[in-house]
Amino acid sequence: MAKTSRTVRIQFFSEYLLASRISSCKKCPRLAEYLAEHREKNPDWYCMPVPGFGDPNAKIVLLGLAPGLKGANRTGRPFTGDAAGIWLYRILFQRGFCNNEESISRDDNTGLRNIYIANVVKCVPPGNKPTGEEVNTCSPFLQEELKLLDSAKVVVCFGKVAHDAYFKIRKLLHPELKGKDFPFGHAAVHEFEGAPQIMLDSFHPSRLNTNTGRLTWEMWEQVFEVATELAK
Ligand code: SF4
Repeated sequence: MAKTSRTVRIQFFSEYLLASRISSCKKCPRLAEYLAEHREKNPDWYCMPVPGFGDPNAKIVLLGLAPGLKGANRTGRPFTGDAAGIWLYRILFQRGFCNNEESISRDDNTGLRNIYIANVVKCVPPGNKPTGEEVNTCSPFLQEELKLLDSAKVVVCFGKVAHDAYFKIRKLLHPELKGKDFPFGHAAVHEFEGAPQIMLDSFHPSRLNTNTGRLTWEMWEQVFEVATELAK
């Protein structure tokens, strides 16, 4: 059903408020300290928690792990300014989801259509490894983001941590679900009874995965083909 202009305005305002709360959050002491260290070392960097980015009416949500130190943490936009972002925005552009082939900074004119990008953890973690406690602490923000993205039909989880984080959210409503019945696998599709979204797994487009051939361009295209089909 098409949204009324009032509904769209409320959604926009709710997203704005959520993004403001995320940006000022310091609930994880280790991550807040790490951000403060980098803010001091690199005063030109963004160095704050990074909210999601994209189309509020997206049917496809892309879920990454956390801001990259020299990527989203530097620029302030998910998957912007690092090697993973080059892969991501290139395929989004090729498939008509993005107006630019590259996302360089928060101030460029990049816009997404039918895609929303979020991270499980909104603050850059040391060594790119958030603790389980940090993932759990940040989960309510992801839950709020998903609630606002009420047109979303597919959540594409980049990597096992994103897969597990999304699965845990589903398990909150259905504690009987067992992780072993939903194993992570590239291009694996997982449906949850009564859930608004289907989960689709993908290897993360990290430099490590793309350089070693663990994730090839063909495998990457396959995930977006499946996501597009599932979102119809
Ligand atoms: S990771 Fe999430 S919960 Fe933790 S400080 Fe950052 S925004 Fe807050």
